[in-house]
Amino acid sequence: MSARQRLVAGNWKMNKNYQEGRDLTTDIIRLLQPTEVKVVLAPPFIHMKSVSNIIQDMTHLYLGAQNCHQEEKGAYTGEVSASMLKSTGVDYVIIGHSERREYFGETDGLLAKKVAAVLANDMLPIFCCGEKLDIREAGTHEALVAQQLKEGLFGLSAEEFARVVIAYEPVWAIGTGKTATPQQAQEMHHHIRSLIARQYGKELAEQTTILYGGSCNPSNASELFAQPDVDGGLIGGASLKAEDFVAIVNSF
Ligand code: PEP
Repeated sequence: MSARQRLVAGNWKMNKNYQEGRDLTTDIIRLLQPTEVKVVLAPPFIHMKSVSNIIQDMTHLYLGAQNCHQEEKGAYTGEVSASMLKSTGVDYVIIGHSERREYFGETDGLLAKKVAAVLANDMLPIFCCGEKLDIREAGTHEALVAQQLKEGLFGLSAEEFARVVIAYEPVWAIGTGKTATPQQAQEMHHHIRSLIARQYGKELAEQTTILYGGSCNPSNASELFAQPDVDGGLIGGASLKAEDFVAIVNSF
């Protein structure tokens, strides 16, 4: 078991109305035993204040957002800034989820600005990277992830980078029921850690929390989390059921 911070984050995506979000949060609290794993709930924006209020006395539960705008404020109809999130009690912000990259055209250059906005507002980014199926089949997945990290993160100072969590999410595994094998996850996590070591040194690389995401569930989480470079998970579908989500948290 690694000495790194272990973390499990639930990405609710565009699911749960206001009351359902409250119910899911209270169910998770009811089932969750004290743990050294950091547990992050990342609901849609409308839930931020209510989830924040519900979890405020829980020391191991944290609030996450699924996205933020890169600018501080202004005429950006429909957007939410990092400082607004901070004001509702958000601790983590997921940046560069593959659905944001795919459906909203987010590029690594833009994501670097969002990461900077998150850090400037004293929150922690969970930066997503990962390849689509054609890239995996072409065998260029390691190069693609290297490029995503270089453009999205490696402009940060070492001090800034020390606050970043990385989530490796092979796009072909997200919401498909097709999980990466523990070996595939380990290989890529090891690759990511080597890239960090080359950029920032071995010590920082060893401290960086790297999550796996992609059809992670209570049946496969233990084997994935047992890999030496896998420090937890970013969970989509299985985070919508309290029992499943808590079972994943208990899978270390
Ligand atoms: C995700 O969206 O980050 C994700 C990993 O989804 P799922 O667990 O549903 O594959």
